[in-house]
Amino acid sequence: MARKISAPRGTHDLLPEEAPTWERVEAVVRDLSSRYGFERIDTPIFERIELFARGLGESSDAVEKEMFRVSGAKGSEEERSEWALRPEPTAGIVRAYIEHGMHVRPSPLRLWMLGPMFRYARPQAGRYREFTQWDVEVIGDPGPMVDAELIELAHRFYAEVGLRGVVAHLNSIGDMVCRARYRDALTEYFAPLSSRLSADSQRRLQVNPLRVLDDKDLDPELAAGAPKALDYLCEACREHFEGLRELLGRLGVRYEINHRLVRGLDYYALGGGGRYDGLIEVLGGRPAPAIGFGLGIDRTVIGAQKQQVTLPARTPLVAVVSASPDDAPRRLEVATALRDAGLRVRTDGLSRTLSKQLEAAAKAGARWAVLLGEPGLARATLRDLESGDQQDLALDTLAAEVVRAVDHRTPSRGSK
Ligand code: AMP
Repeated sequence: MARKISAPRGTHDLLPEEAPTWERVEAVVRDLSSRYGFERIDTPIFERIELFARGLGESSDAVEKEMFRVSGAKGSEEERSEWALRPEPTAGIVRAYIEHGMHVRPSPLRLWMLGPMFRYARPQAGRYREFTQWDVEVIGDPGPMVDAELIELAHRFYAEVGLRGVVAHLNSIGDMVCRARYRDALTEYFAPLSSRLSADSQRRLQVNPLRVLDDKDLDPELAAGAPKALDYLCEACREHFEGLRELLGRLGVRYEINHRLVRGLDYYALGGGGRYDGLIEVLGGRPAPAIGFGLGIDRTVIGAQKQQVTLPARTPLVAVVSASPDDAPRRLEVATALRDAGLRVRTDGLSRTLSKQLEAAAKAGARWAVLLGEPGLARATLRDLESGDQQDLALDTLAAEVVRAVDHRTPSRGSK
């Protein structure tokens, strides 16, 4: 036998048994994106590496070590460019916004995207090299109203997916001016303590001291004593933040202030987001205030599975089986007619006895079976596979009868 090939490290296959939970979460994503008035955008999965480097800031982990590089074909012009699989969605969306002159569209612009992201980090539980994010972006609104709206949206997303106990963590690191003052204060605080910091944090202290707070190995005592960003906000940023808190209160969204939240790319959470008011300018567009979030779909699904969230009922599955093992063409014909009537139907072309066919139908999750008798017979039997009840139906009105029976007799239940 040929050598088997396994999936790349840090990726995971979506197997059929997991699919209903994924589909449920994706359905909530699409529904909420539309209900909140967002328009869909899709951008390429790979872009020039420089886009992400500028978008994320050179000192972020994603640029230093998490970029998943791809190369063009040998000898091509592309080969000289450096490419990467997107580690996050915002840079690509902002690139598209600038490239297509979207600033002339009615403002604020509300965009959403669902798709895979790639980070070349060491894989661990809940941390993959390929994962999926739901992303929303609002460009052209300075907040704080829209900030509250997006936090409420994320909150509703988890509630509609069925996750319990999700809490928003909130912080403000201010604008360019107050952030600079805060950075200085952090440097002053951590510099004399640098021997108690991890090697990673010692390096971060030089390039971006905010990221020291993001280090999960940071001594809690040092973290507790560190200057707090909220104490360094300028008047405008303080008002913005207070306005946001007031609105969240009015909308009934639960949150906690988290002084260590500085939005690093490696923050371990279900989802994250924030304002990026300076990014469009950094990427060569006209300045515009902007905000967005990226919610991790993989971690949401893991959470839903852990909490054993019940999924909404699916349309019941009908199996078409026949008394004669070799009657597959007729099974297919009847299945097709039932599908024409909108039913969810499975059948197969294997040559098996009726009892084997029924056994396979039950294993596949069928709730109903249509049993075809000997060829030439104008009648069929509809069997409720749960109760065993049967009814005899005429073949020429079969589809309508099955639709009626399935509608009336199938109580709603969790999907299989
Ligand atoms: P970030 O862009 O880092 O703020 O990430 C937003 C969300 O995406 C996180 O809260 C996670 O739910 C998810 N996420 C980020 N990185 C990974 C990863 N490597 N594997 C799985 N999910 C991830």
